[in-house]
Amino acid sequence: MDIEVALHRWGGAARTWQLHRSGVSDGDIADAVLSGRVIRARKGVYIENRRDPVGIAATHGGALTCVSVLATLGIWLLDSQPEPHVQLGRKGRKHKHPRCRCVEHYSAERTRFGRQSCADALIAAMQCLTTEMLFVAFESAWHLGLISADDRRRIITEAPQRLARWLRRTRGDAGSGLESLFRFRLLREGITLECQVHIRGVGRVDFRHGQVLFEIDGREHHDGDEAFHRDRVRDGAATRAGYRTERFDFAMIVHNWPQTLAVVKAAIASSDWRI
Ligand SMILES: [Zn+2]
Ligand SMILES: [Zn+2]
Repeated sequence: MDIEVALHRWGGAARTWQLHRSGVSDGDIADAVLSGRVIRARKGVYIENRRDPVGIAATHGGALTCVSVLATLGIWLLDSQPEPHVQLGRKGRKHKHPRCRCVEHYSAERTRFGRQSCADALIAAMQCLTTEMLFVAFESAWHLGLISADDRRRIITEAPQRLARWLRRTRGDAGSGLESLFRFRLLREGITLECQVHIRGVGRVDFRHGQVLFEIDGREHHDGDEAFHRDRVRDGAATRAGYRTERFDFAMIVHNWPQTLAVVKAAIASSDWRI
């Protein structure tokens, strides 16, 4: 097998024995390093690229993990963390390198290279993310089909009790990270809304309580004149069906939560009063 293909299959970083297993000879490795097609991170460890996160993690001494993996998989994270999070094994030694700002994680297993699985990255992220952000990342991974039912059970088993209680309340149908965040923050207040409800004449709405609909406008789908118009048409349909619509955007949920919560509480109170 071509060494670049082999390296890619091993997740962007591999030891000599792994390359051997893929049918790459010592001569092929030496030629590839000499011509610059692959890079020798250090003795016995080869990488595709010194600047990509997997290459940096291998240079540091382990596999890419935690939020660094979640970010590459497109999982919703509120803050981007540019420094690579690296999983070092039981006997893993860290190797300082120029411009090293790596965040280290340790496991009882042997050192590996490449990229950890989504489930393992979520388990590692229990050390770096808040309960809220882990809840959101878990729902996002589930929605994207990146964690199986077995993975979910394993992650919950590995979680400390307080976090596990929250993870048991996650769902796989949240339409966006922002929706997950909204739901988490309401659950924390003891408020449970119906989720992903189909309303005749309107379609699927994010949340409902009584005669009030709550729609979350993530930045992805609600920008531009066309989306603005579409939302107005939808709100009109909801009004005809006897509903009132409250809309919340990124800034309202993330940066102005107290006011958003007050609006939700007032809307629930008015809906209950009308019943
Ligand atoms: Zn981390
Ligand atoms: Zn480093």
